[in-house]
Amino acid sequence: MTVRRNIVKIVPGVPASDGAGVSLLRVIGSPLLDFVDPFLMLDEFRNDDPQAYVGGFPDHPHRGFETVSYMKKGRMRHRDSVGNEGVINDGGVQWMTAGRGIIHSEMPEQTHGTLWGYQLWVNLPATHKMTAPRYQDIQPDDIPEVSADGLTVRILAGDYSPPGQAARSGASQTIWPVGYLDVIAGPDTDFSHQIENGHNALVFVYEGSLAIGGEIIEPHQLAVLDQGGVLEAKAGSQGAGFLVMTGKPIGEPVAKMGPFVMNTEQELRQAVTDFRAGKFA
Ligand code: MN
Repeated sequence: MTVRRNIVKIVPGVPASDGAGVSLLRVIGSPLLDFVDPFLMLDEFRNDDPQAYVGGFPDHPHRGFETVSYMKKGRMRHRDSVGNEGVINDGGVQWMTAGRGIIHSEMPEQTHGTLWGYQLWVNLPATHKMTAPRYQDIQPDDIPEVSADGLTVRILAGDYSPPGQAARSGASQTIWPVGYLDVIAGPDTDFSHQIENGHNALVFVYEGSLAIGGEIIEPHQLAVLDQGGVLEAKAGSQGAGFLVMTGKPIGEPVAKMGPFVMNTEQELRQAVTDFRAGKFA
């Protein structure tokens, strides 16, 4: 008998502002949903008004985790203190490992039209929090995409097995076992995804509607699923666009302060001291 994943709760995103006045929807890391191990934060920025996004995210530090930016529409330029620079647009991913410390900027490069993207923060285990910073810039054409039976699945990270086919691996190299899919499903289309038992699973709907176990997830809502079995979902009559995030829980204490995420308060204080002393790469 197939064990299916059920919804534990459905949480709406909360309007927020970050960087230099960028209007966004905070989905994880909000007053309603603090943290789903190993995911620390999920923001959606989606706006037609340049005034709501042109300020971007000027130079700021990170330590202890990874930031993952995925652009659906529009252009974002990354520059960092390690010397990396790259631009992604419609469909590209930037996977940045902050590790022991990095200073970077993430700036929209357009003056009109829609900017639509996501930033996901993936925690790192204690053994990897002080790893060397790394930056992966993945262009849209380099992301594996499977289209069949009314589904288009873009594999940003982790594995996905299309019905009746062998598993395919995502474009990003991850330190910790996480999966990240962008799925577009036609009207009344079924989607099935095998997720390792014990791993957390999250589904964020950005268009249409999606049913899991009889419960309906609407746009701007995140469904937190239980930890065992297959994800089986069905798009509504208007179809559905949604992100699927899966990850093995790290199971360590989390000490968070702004752009630093460590295991203890003492390590947070050290991060501030090191940053002020110019010790970030
Ligand atoms: Mn950042």
